[in-house]
Amino acid sequence: MRSLDTLEFAPRFAALGDAFSAPIKPTATEQAKMVICSPAALALLDLPASTADDPRLLQLAAGQWYWPDATPRAMVYSGHQFGGYTPQLGDGRGLLLAEVRNTAGEHWDVHLKGAGLTPFSRTGDGRAVLRSSIREFLASEYLHTLGIPTSRALCVTDSKTMVWREQRETAATLIRLAPSHIRFGHFEYFYYNKQYAKLEQLHAHVLNDLYPECLTADEPLAAMLGEVVKRTAETIALWQAYGFCHGVMNTDNMSILGLTFDFGPFAFLDDFKRAHVCNHSDHHARYAFNKQVEIGYWNLTAFAETLTRNVPVERLQEILDGYAGIQQHAYLQAMRARLGLLDEQESDALLIDKLLLQLNDSAVDYTLFFRRLGELPAAQALASMRDDFINQAAFAEWSSEFIARNANDSRTQEQRRTQMHAVNPLYMLRNYLIQIAIEAAEDGDYAPLHKLQQVLSEPFTEQEGYAAYAERPPEWGKHLSISCSS
Ligand code: AMP
Ligand code: MG
Repeated sequence: MRSLDTLEFAPRFAALGDAFSAPIKPTATEQAKMVICSPAALALLDLPASTADDPRLLQLAAGQWYWPDATPRAMVYSGHQFGGYTPQLGDGRGLLLAEVRNTAGEHWDVHLKGAGLTPFSRTGDGRAVLRSSIREFLASEYLHTLGIPTSRALCVTDSKTMVWREQRETAATLIRLAPSHIRFGHFEYFYYNKQYAKLEQLHAHVLNDLYPECLTADEPLAAMLGEVVKRTAETIALWQAYGFCHGVMNTDNMSILGLTFDFGPFAFLDDFKRAHVCNHSDHHARYAFNKQVEIGYWNLTAFAETLTRNVPVERLQEILDGYAGIQQHAYLQAMRARLGLLDEQESDALLIDKLLLQLNDSAVDYTLFFRRLGELPAAQALASMRDDFINQAAFAEWSSEFIARNANDSRTQEQRRTQMHAVNPLYMLRNYLIQIAIEAAEDGDYAPLHKLQQVLSEPFTEQEGYAAYAERPPEWGKHLSISCSS
């Protein structure tokens, strides 16, 4: 175990120099309080759970103190936002506080969101608010428990420093961890600014430090694109399988490691709604749930464009062409597991599609459908859910097909339930649960948030006293308006 004073620093991104990031000191918030801390994220830095109570952590997270051996830096990048290119973005309110190597040799960026003004703040105030910080904290840690690649969240603080959004709110901060904070937008920045030597420096860093296995390939950058395509496709496949809507899939929010990254107005589906738009600022539904796969491809294409000076276009296209197949394969794998299907059959894609159409048409709760399907033998489970479907005849037909598809399943119901429940969460990070926790936290009561953190830390296991957390949301909870403003 280590303490905040004995971490080992290993600057990699910072070592690229001032063309890539600007050294900036955080601006402290006033009268900061620790809101929530993730013991699992602390462990990534070899820090004991008791670090949550270390006054040093609060000082670090509130921008009052930083490590003397590591210079906080604001990264520069650009990116395509809602389809249009914005030439200058960057960490407008975040700082890379340090790059840490843990005892297992893993590299973790320690990033402070809400750290105050930077050269890239544009018209913003450099701050984050409590509600969006809590949302990012819960989402990162929850996605991780589902096995979906994501950045992690160490802790959230609140303060008495006031900021203005649609109303007056308090300035909060979040410490985020990720093996790298490099986005597609980093490449776009140097490519479109024609800073080709810097672009190659970035390539060298990404190959050496993030994709060393590609260095020995005939065309290392082509191999790297292949990996990025694969990871992005697989992550998005899991979003689709678990009903996660990102909400702002701009290229500056796309991780070079294929992590779920930069959480804004995300949502997990409650009722299954194919074309759900979780971001109320997304007027053209560009980032609707059922557009995420093609937007992933669009973003990868924007990234591949930045490699055109180094890799022949035909080769880049060939790699991009692999995206759909990788995505579909990963999606079907995840969905087969969720449905308890043991082998692979050609007709599975159609079977899944037909089910989703019915879930959509009848607004069935997406999470509970899978959980209930595993609870009882298939025929019984399906019969018990028939009333949830408007077109009962169509659902009965699908049920028969599903039962026939499972004819060779020789597991006992106990084995089937155990396997299905291990991939189908009972507790979901529902928007309304987050909202309840946020409203209490805004009043200074963190107990509901901690209780939510507790139940979501083991989403697959039924926990005594938490039945209410597994219910469908109340009607008001399905129509919460979440905008980009955070
Ligand atoms: P996001 O929508 O959070 O991905 O942010 C898009 C860009 O705006 C990034 O460059 C952010 O750093 C910047 N940004 C967002 N909010 C603020 C803020 N309150 N102050 C300064 N910059 C911000
Ligand atoms: Mg962003």
